[in-house]
Amino acid sequence: PPPGPRGNLAQQIWERLPRGVQEVLERIQQAYPEGGIYVVGGTVRDALLGMGGPDLDLVLEPLTVFASQSNHRRNRLDELARQLVGWFGGSFGLHVAFGTARVKLGFGLEVDLAEAREEYYPHPGALPQVRPSSIARDLERRDFTVNALALRLSPRLEIVDLFDGLADLEARLLRPLHPLSFVEDPSRILRGVRLAARLGFRFAPEALAQIPSAVQPEVLAQASKSRLRDELLLTLGEASATRALGLLAELGVAEPMFGMGASPQVREAFAALEPILQTTSDPEAAVAARLYLLLHFHPDPEGFLTRYNLPRRYAEGLRHLRFPPEDPDDIRKFVGLPEAFRALHPERALWLLTPRRMLMGRDLLEMGLPSGPKIGEVLRKVAEARLRGEVLSYEDELEFARKLVSDA
Ligand code: ATP
Repeated sequence: PPPGPRGNLAQQIWERLPRGVQEVLERIQQAYPEGGIYVVGGTVRDALLGMGGPDLDLVLEPLTVFASQSNHRRNRLDELARQLVGWFGGSFGLHVAFGTARVKLGFGLEVDLAEAREEYYPHPGALPQVRPSSIARDLERRDFTVNALALRLSPRLEIVDLFDGLADLEARLLRPLHPLSFVEDPSRILRGVRLAARLGFRFAPEALAQIPSAVQPEVLAQASKSRLRDELLLTLGEASATRALGLLAELGVAEPMFGMGASPQVREAFAALEPILQTTSDPEAAVAARLYLLLHFHPDPEGFLTRYNLPRRYAEGLRHLRFPPEDPDDIRKFVGLPEAFRALHPERALWLLTPRRMLMGRDLLEMGLPSGPKIGEVLRKVAEARLRGEVLSYEDELEFARKLVSDA
């Protein structure tokens, strides 16, 4: 349902949060009446869209912003993490250096805690660093207005909307917070593509306008490769990956960023993969299978793997995709490769499903074939039939071999 008038929006968001999340937030409101704790990011966005996400993201404002005793601030993060586990059971991990904590509550909810931070430049031209700051400064460094919404928990429940994210959410628009946002971090384009494909949002005109300068070779050379890679992999893991791929090409991002367009063949292969992925529940297999298809159609897969520091096993798996091995086990041992293989070679794919028992020389000797080169020849013909999908079981292979032997 669309969000209603702003006055009671905070209350509406609250009502759309899952019961478990509400219970956690009620406890926090009681324990921290002085305020400074906010629900942020995807949790607020998705609640407004009426779709409950699986986790809860919270930001803690330091009680005294810019106070010099960093121990004091750390303690509040640490304290809340401990309290949550005390109230609901579970466990937590603290990352003091990043000012974050991840709590896994007994009833399954994951809560991410982070201190409010801002980016600053120690001197002109230096790399940005972060330091504790206010919620406003924290929201300011985010990617899109719809992700820069926050829900203040106390002293009263309120929505914090400093960048008109509510209006953009209603219009389903992805708008960066400032004109250099994509140049500053081109991985934000990928984040936008992922959201656009998943939620049916569009890039606002300001967003479209800043893409060309953000995908200049000099800019991409400076960009964090691991962020780009991580965002790409996240995109490949989503049910809407095919749409995202099309969008990447339409926006002119696929070529400069990843060295490939979305040719009709890639799109067809992605589409063929969809029903196959319905039969697997392994999210890693979905990511890997789509990556194999991209690599298969990529003009320089090795260069791509190196540039984005992806595991070498993809290169090995890719060889099997291009030159199918004799033994289907060579394909099965690579996560996602069987799915990519079935999408690309449907006519041969049944072979992958055949039982592991295969015809061997011993079977031919038992059939009465004398030992000698003839054995190897029959085995090779059986293997070829297996690759063509003409024999689907050990029994088929025996019969196929018997026929070859009797014809000879
Ligand atoms: P998803 O539903 O994809 O998990 P999310 O919004 O929860 O969406 P996260 O990746 O968990 O996404 O990021 C949390 C928040 O951090 C985002 O809402 C966004 O505001 C901010 N963020 C993440 N990556 C960036 C980035 N590269 N630049 C700016 N802000 C970012």
